[in-house]
Amino acid sequence: MYTRRSLPFFCILAVLSLGTARGNSRGADADDAAPVTGAIAQCEVAAIGPGARKPAEELAEYLHRISGAVVPICTDPAACRGRPILVGGEEAIVAAEALGVEGNRERWKGLSREGYFIRCSGGTLLLAGKTELATFYAVDRFLEEYLGVRWFMPGDLGEIVAQRRTLGVGEIEEFGEPGFRWRWVGRGEWARRLGMNVAVDCKGAFKTRWFVHTFSRLLPPEEFYGDHPEYYALVNGRRDRRGNAQRCTSNPQVARAVAGRILEIKKAEPDLRMISLDPMDTGAFCGCPACRALDEPGASFHNRLSRRLLLFDNAVSGLTPQLGARYPNPTFEPTPAVEQLPSALVRL
Ligand SMILES: [Zn+2]
Repeated sequence: MYTRRSLPFFCILAVLSLGTARGNSRGADADDAAPVTGAIAQCEVAAIGPGARKPAEELAEYLHRISGAVVPICTDPAACRGRPILVGGEEAIVAAEALGVEGNRERWKGLSREGYFIRCSGGTLLLAGKTELATFYAVDRFLEEYLGVRWFMPGDLGEIVAQRRTLGVGEIEEFGEPGFRWRWVGRGEWARRLGMNVAVDCKGAFKTRWFVHTFSRLLPPEEFYGDHPEYYALVNGRRDRRGNAQRCTSNPQVARAVAGRILEIKKAEPDLRMISLDPMDTGAFCGCPACRALDEPGASFHNRLSRRLLLFDNAVSGLTPQLGARYPNPTFEPTPAVEQLPSALVRL
């Protein structure tokens, strides 16, 4: 799901007491390490900038559950007692740089809106994300990869929190980037901690309208069938107006009508990142010659239909310039190869 890089250098994060960790930079394991005599350091989590507070609270809560230490949350790193753990977006990187930590801004700028950055250097820990969701990713990946927390399934039974009195990690420079634009398994906090971006309740989540089987919502028969029965699938010689029938997706007017509806929805909810454009849950696909001509030659029933649907998705996508590339004159030529337009997001 993510690509990560860490550097094999070494530093210490002290939550209860400053200790020296042995071995590699991962897996905070300072219980096995010799503590630094007389050095006691208290940490605070500094929530810096918008979208930082909730991820900072999550970090403080887990640090408490792991170590027993109560870790306060502040908003001004200069006012923090001891070494602050910096949590937030670009403001947190600025604060880390003020403490002498190399922020690697060039790499940060190249991250997508869901990218995150974990940096530990010279005893300062930075957990940064471009949005609240991405900052959660930084916190959750740190808890998982470096402190051994596991979320095998939702609920207390599925959670593993290994307890340690002293926590230490090596020097870290890790950038994470989701491998998929749309990620959905389960919902809520558990899903978010696994790196999902759908059905998670925080700023920066991937907001969608509907899920599947949306032809009936985008082109309802009660609205269009009376004037345009030709928009609907030809099944057994008749244009099928049942709600779960398919649409005649080779008809350019169908693509235009659906595109118009999608633009209305997007205008009403500008922060939507995906509007579901999916066939109904039935095999009653249009049997008109124009639709059949777009199918994959020689393929089985279901396999051959993907091609006509992707051509339809591309046509609608091309008619919605606010959402992606514009094709002012959608074509339905039965060419052998078809490529997905950038704004047509295929879900697996
Ligand atoms: Zn048709």
